[in-house]
Amino acid sequence: MTEDIWKLGFFALFVVWFLVRAYYGRKAKAGRSDHKVRPVFESCLVGLNFIGMMILPLAAVFTPWLDSFSMNIPDQVRLLFLVIGFFNVWLFARIHADLGKNWSPVLEIKQDHTLVKSGIYKRIRHPMYAHIWLWVIGQGIILDNWLVLVFGVAAWSLLYYLRVPKEEEMLITKFGDEYREYMKTTGRVIPKI
Ligand code: SAH
Repeated sequence: MTEDIWKLGFFALFVVWFLVRAYYGRKAKAGRSDHKVRPVFESCLVGLNFIGMMILPLAAVFTPWLDSFSMNIPDQVRLLFLVIGFFNVWLFARIHADLGKNWSPVLEIKQDHTLVKSGIYKRIRHPMYAHIWLWVIGQGIILDNWLVLVFGVAAWSLLYYLRVPKEEEMLITKFGDEYREYMKTTGRVIPKI
């Protein structure tokens, strides 16, 4: 019974997160692209992340199949991560609002692409990726499921470490010294104070 309440809590979080992505994703689609990069290997990693962030957590919510992967995490810790999760979704909406039409699920430079350096982006270059780190950790803890935790973190680690150097290289090619200067005053996923 209490497990159902945690599942419901996570699902509520998931729905809000999904709606934020759908709302801003639609808006960002308007910007046409000059240059898209989606190699086959990266597409496979995106597929793994789809399993890690959609299929497995939703299977944990709606089926009993993954119930045996419990770690017996204390309720207080799960509640803490649920609260952090809602804060993280609020952050997600702010990140999307700051990035605007420059957002894309793949690496690309849009027509009229601008370099965002303010708002959340003032001290951190990859707030959306920081958000995903927190998300993949949080989902495994809220659902108290080590398969969801390990798979989610592993799949995201692979994509993150493959993508970030390429993304920064692409932005340096586009914005040159402006991006290099921006790199000096920001952290990748931990804000530079
Ligand atoms: N890595 C960023 C953005 C993720 S969305 C973050 O974690 O917040 C991916 C797209 O964002 C890429 O196609 C890239 O072109 C674009 N992008 C990344 N940083 C940007 C910035 N500071 N300003 C504008 N666009 C950016």
